[in-house]
Amino acid sequence: MPKTLKKKAAKKAPAQKRAVAKKPATPKKIRYVYYFGDGKADGNGSMKPLLGGKGANLHEMTRIGLPVPPGFTITTEVCTYFYDNKKQYPPELEAQVASALAKIEKSVSKKLGDRANPLLLSVRSGARDSMPGMMDTILNLGMNDEVVEIVAEKSGNPRFAWDSYRRFLQMYGDVVMGVQKREGEDHEPFETVIEEVKHAAHVQKDTELSPDDLKTLVERFKQLIKERTGKTFPQDARQQLWGAIGAVFGSWNNDRAIVYRRKYGIPHEWGTAVNVQTMVFGNRGDTSATGVAFTRDPATGEKVFYGEYLINAQGEDVVAGVRTPHPVAQLAQEMPAAHKELLKVRSLLEKHFRDMQDLEFTVEDNNLYILQTRNGKRTGFAAVRIATDMVAEKLITKEDALRRIPADSLSHLLAPIFDRQSVRSAQKIGTGLAAGPGAASGRLAFNAKDAVELAHKGERVILARIETSPEDLRGMIAAEGILTARGGVSSHAALVARQMGKVCVCGALALKIDYAAQTLAAGSATLKRGDYISIDGTAGEVYAGEVKTAASEVVQVLVEKKLDPKKSQTYQEFASLMSWADKARKLDVRTNADSPDQVATAIAFGAKGIGLCRTEHMFFEGDRIDAMREMILAQSLDERKAAVAKLLPYQRSDFVGIFRVLKGLPATIRFLDPPLHEFLPHTEAQQKDLAAKLNVPLEHIARRVEELHEFNPMLGHRGCRLGISFPEVTEMQARAIFEAAAEVQKSGIKVKPEIMIPLVGFPKELRLQIDIVHRVASEVAKAKKVKFNYLVGTMLEIPRAALVADEIAKDAEFFSFGTNDLTQTTLGMSRDDSGSFLPHYQELEIVKNNPFATIDQAGVGKLMEISRDQAHKTRPDIKLGICGEHGGDPESVKFCHRIGLDYVSCSPFRVPVAKLAAAQAALAG
Ligand code: PEP
Ligand code: MG
Repeated sequence: MPKTLKKKAAKKAPAQKRAVAKKPATPKKIRYVYYFGDGKADGNGSMKPLLGGKGANLHEMTRIGLPVPPGFTITTEVCTYFYDNKKQYPPELEAQVASALAKIEKSVSKKLGDRANPLLLSVRSGARDSMPGMMDTILNLGMNDEVVEIVAEKSGNPRFAWDSYRRFLQMYGDVVMGVQKREGEDHEPFETVIEEVKHAAHVQKDTELSPDDLKTLVERFKQLIKERTGKTFPQDARQQLWGAIGAVFGSWNNDRAIVYRRKYGIPHEWGTAVNVQTMVFGNRGDTSATGVAFTRDPATGEKVFYGEYLINAQGEDVVAGVRTPHPVAQLAQEMPAAHKELLKVRSLLEKHFRDMQDLEFTVEDNNLYILQTRNGKRTGFAAVRIATDMVAEKLITKEDALRRIPADSLSHLLAPIFDRQSVRSAQKIGTGLAAGPGAASGRLAFNAKDAVELAHKGERVILARIETSPEDLRGMIAAEGILTARGGVSSHAALVARQMGKVCVCGALALKIDYAAQTLAAGSATLKRGDYISIDGTAGEVYAGEVKTAASEVVQVLVEKKLDPKKSQTYQEFASLMSWADKARKLDVRTNADSPDQVATAIAFGAKGIGLCRTEHMFFEGDRIDAMREMILAQSLDERKAAVAKLLPYQRSDFVGIFRVLKGLPATIRFLDPPLHEFLPHTEAQQKDLAAKLNVPLEHIARRVEELHEFNPMLGHRGCRLGISFPEVTEMQARAIFEAAAEVQKSGIKVKPEIMIPLVGFPKELRLQIDIVHRVASEVAKAKKVKFNYLVGTMLEIPRAALVADEIAKDAEFFSFGTNDLTQTTLGMSRDDSGSFLPHYQELEIVKNNPFATIDQAGVGKLMEISRDQAHKTRPDIKLGICGEHGGDPESVKFCHRIGLDYVSCSPFRVPVAKLAAAQAALAG
């Protein structure tokens, strides 16, 4: 007894006071059960965490007057309690369920297990986020040997009654009593029995079974349950109800549900609710039907009522595809009154939920019931169309529209697409990572040379490699799409493909690529060089043969400039959305691009300059690679200087092209970064070829290649370490930039180079490189009689630099986070080799996301914050950006907003995605 009460009990209190003391404040009773029915509901649509998505919306629909069969929801808290307490329920639950059940019984004037007026129930799961088909459902609960006879008599439809009973036995036997396929069995045991009964009755379809056949089936099902479980199927309806509730809670932790939650990041501790609801039947004859519908088209977003139904059927028949359903418009002829009612429901739902809804309905004896509504899943196209249309219809605000469209879905709008008919008949031969969105079809090439040759002949090409390296770049440029058997989302193939806007599937592990035999094998298919292959980089799928494609309308308007913007609704929607995003966002968006074409594309998509120009990519075009190789193989400074001098004009003309397209926007240009061996000829044939071109002995080349071999090149002689060893290369690159700037400035176009030194770890590394840049800048300025407006900064891509950012900021005028390398070096995990174990790490939830795709906020992100704070100590207004692949990942963009970066930089085709993500981050505050 609490202290205060003890005292009061001991002391003789006046009558009035005693009366107060007799009623101690009992703890507030926890409500575990929420009733809905007859226009009133205990819950509402905002209670998804407690009532689950399905439950909360059933309550909300009841409140707004929609025809929802009465029922109740048992909360997700009971699920949590159930798992925390050895599968026991809270003691209050039983009484609360009994009282809610009594309300249903009163509302429909039927009773569970009653002989005169039996009530039948459905028991369904419903988590906070929908997990379609992952958990269990039981229908027709309340059926037993007596009730079935009464239902048969009352409905005048014995077939319906016995069919409902056998369906209930089947679901209950499977889900609650565990009668399932055993090891070594090919079929579900109930299905085997159905087949036997059909065979004996000489019929093909379930629907052809007579009431007597169904009676036999019921008996056989009961026997099966007894044989398999040793238990008798419970005739008592309340026992059935508690069995079903327990099974639905139990299904939260079945394997399917666990795997689904892992894939979609749904926390295990959320739990499911259980919805117990009056059954309504769409299979009571020709005045009954059941169907599913979307308030708008989920594929295109068009404002049409979209769905299908079946007359005289239960919900599962529509999904099972045994009978072909009719389009919902046809209901206007078959059941005009129900159709009219359904159209009213459609408009009410949209007005109320202010989003496209996916609903389930049943017509029972011409009465319409709504059994579920939720925000409908949709394609990227539909997401944009629906949101922009709803702004025009004044259903939602522009900010709502921005918040609602998943940023990633914009890449669907930009990507070429497979012709729907064509893909349906194609043979799928593999899956990999969806690394570059879009669809591409072409002839198979296994190396860059072949890809270029085929492309020159006017063929579309898919370049298939085990993995790619910069050497493949020419082939990648020539190809429509890139397919690799190895490598992750920040592998070379993936990042180059995205930057070029190429379709890419990478890490398709099941593909066996044999360079010697020039074949690609997968499953039973073996494709040869020149055969057609098709890849879908949005879904990560690979098909044998040709699948027709079409360019996205947005690209036709903005990039190819061959479609009149007024003629493309998709483009107009995209443009509206981008203008709203531009108003809302705080982060600037730049692009990773290293050719005038790429820059032009990015600017068309709204980029505000270049955040990363990887100059090494410029050395792979045409014959430039020879001069580059000559430079690397040089044995004396003079030889090297001579080779470098050959590279200068190439670089200069590239920069002229880029500066002209930029028209005064800033260009962050990074000096040479990759380990030199990436440029070298590795096969004997390539080495012979080079020896002949350079007129040097083959042994000389082979020896130099050997000398340059590194065990761990990504941590070896690369980045600014090259510029430190070979200052003449830094000097050449600086000269190319400033001479190009001088030329373009003279033509009246402003130029803003931001020179970026890679892989700095020590302040002195940067200082030595900066000295060269400043010296060359002043030499060129003097010679050309111009002034330059430029910055010199560095990448933060190794932890040491991040930690001593205050020291480095004394010389650096800006920092750009190279999060590909920063992730690699912080995690000590190779960006090129982690594909072999990362998926398993994700399954085990060691990492939530692939850290090379989405910033590891706790680790790499922490380092970014530390370096921001360090940098601000030295230069409070230092410009901070990001140019790793994460710059185009919505989650990471939002993180960059939160930590106060000035810009993100990403591949041209990711620019719209990053803009939308930046707007969403700003709207989130
Ligand atoms: C990075 O490391 O994040 C970066 C942008 O550089 P690269 O990918 O070229 O190494
Ligand atoms: Mg890097």
